[in-house]
Amino acid sequence: MVMGEFTQESELLVVGGGPGGYAAAFRAADLGWDVTLVERDPKPGGVCLHRGCIPSKSLLHLSEIMADAEHAASMGVTFSKPSIDLERIREWKNAVNDRLADGLLDLCEKRGVQYIQGRAVFESSDQCRLLESEVSRIKFKHAILCTGSRPSSLPHVKFREESRVMDSTLALNLQDIPESLLVVGAGYVALEMGSVYAALGSKVTLIVHRDRMVRAADPDLTVPLKRKLEEVFHSIHYNTKVASVKEQKDSVEVTMEGEIEPSKQLFERILVAVGRDPNSNDLGLENTRVKINKRGYVQVDEQQRTTDPKIFAVGDVVGGYMLAHKAMHEGKVAAEVIAGQPSAFDVRAIPAIVYTNPQIAWCGLTEEQARSEGRPIKVTRFPWKFSGRALSMDAPQGLTKMIFDPDTQRILGVGVVGRQSEGLIAEAVLALEMGALAEDVALSIHAHPTLSETEGEVAEIFLGRSTHVLPKKGPGQSSAD
Ligand code: FAD
Repeated sequence: MVMGEFTQESELLVVGGGPGGYAAAFRAADLGWDVTLVERDPKPGGVCLHRGCIPSKSLLHLSEIMADAEHAASMGVTFSKPSIDLERIREWKNAVNDRLADGLLDLCEKRGVQYIQGRAVFESSDQCRLLESEVSRIKFKHAILCTGSRPSSLPHVKFREESRVMDSTLALNLQDIPESLLVVGAGYVALEMGSVYAALGSKVTLIVHRDRMVRAADPDLTVPLKRKLEEVFHSIHYNTKVASVKEQKDSVEVTMEGEIEPSKQLFERILVAVGRDPNSNDLGLENTRVKINKRGYVQVDEQQRTTDPKIFAVGDVVGGYMLAHKAMHEGKVAAEVIAGQPSAFDVRAIPAIVYTNPQIAWCGLTEEQARSEGRPIKVTRFPWKFSGRALSMDAPQGLTKMIFDPDTQRILGVGVVGRQSEGLIAEAVLALEMGALAEDVALSIHAHPTLSETEGEVAEIFLGRSTHVLPKKGPGQSSAD
């Protein structure tokens, strides 16, 4: 970190060191720019590394091991009940984060990116004041805003470390394992963190505001997950919301409205995971020409330019898919555009993954989206009960589906639910980006026995020549429909 009270100049100032920010900073440095990265945290990584993707996946990995060990009993191998050393789990999770954050610091140094800890506030379109920092001001030619997002709350609820009402950050700290936990939300953070706490022994009650979970995914993909969560959670209630929360000494009294009885219940803790808000306030954006929309997202074009010619923005703060890989891709685009390259954020597929057990992954057009737009499509499905690899892992509940343009055979979208879906979606993304047809995937040899064969077969079903599913009446028809 840079020490000393002074104003400095930088060709490019990157504000925020999350995946959007460090990807932008590194790309710009590789393109020869003099880059300064300002971040509130002592080390780069952002929400993703310190309070999001990585720690949640570390904990989900442990949950998966425990679930697998328990499940092995049905296949003839019995382990004793796991004993949980919460302190050791925390240490391990934090060690993973630290190792990655140190790696990023090292990459900053090796690339000549100057890392400064501080909170940036724009004073004009070419100058920032730094608070809580040893450097007071930075003048720049260009800036990239990568300030990310923070957990949304419920009305009258404030997240504090000493409170029993947690956001995802506090939940990841694993202060204790509450006997009873109310999880409010239906998105991936609610389901992933609820799964972690259930695996560690909490009695988890999930309340979902609408009539289904993971609303961005097709409903058929969520069915196996719903069934599994009904087993591992104490209860799930749809069309239910929190009306009020009253903290007591050892519990929280929650009054709920909707499909839950009784409507007033006590929980040891609550996790509120109802979405995220952009960090676009308290940044001095009013001193620039950057415009934000009604929900606080910074407006950008496909080259990540804001309405201020000197300032670009990427990642969660610009909205859209609030995912780390989307932020990184946008960060690289912004750096390249600043360096004079004709780059743009022009992708056909942003993969989304829910790392629950089973996992759900999808990309491109969903069936529901296509139907609501009245777009002609053909959908084929390959149930995993026909997959040797799925059965050898005792995971027959999975499903792979593809959405095709019926005229051109082009793949428009892919969805997977089941074990290791995270790996399967990569082929789908490549297929969509390359404009692949059913024939391309069907003619690509998929190793046997692997779950990837389900992607080959689902394309073959479209062509009426699947090995494991009987053909029906011609292309697009099969007995698995
Ligand atoms: P952030 O990662 O939010 O980084 C922004 C940074 O800017 C922060 O470090 C902040 O300290 C800094 N900052 C803010 N204001 C200032 C300022 N004024 N001055 C200096 N610095 C400032 N995404 C996935 O793709 N996969 C996942 O599995 C996944 N899991 C998640 C799990 C959880 C529990 C959560 C909460 C999120 C998860 N996400 C996941 C989302 C992912 O973390 C975000 O999409 C991603 O971090 C966004 O990157 P970003 O660079 O836009 O912003």
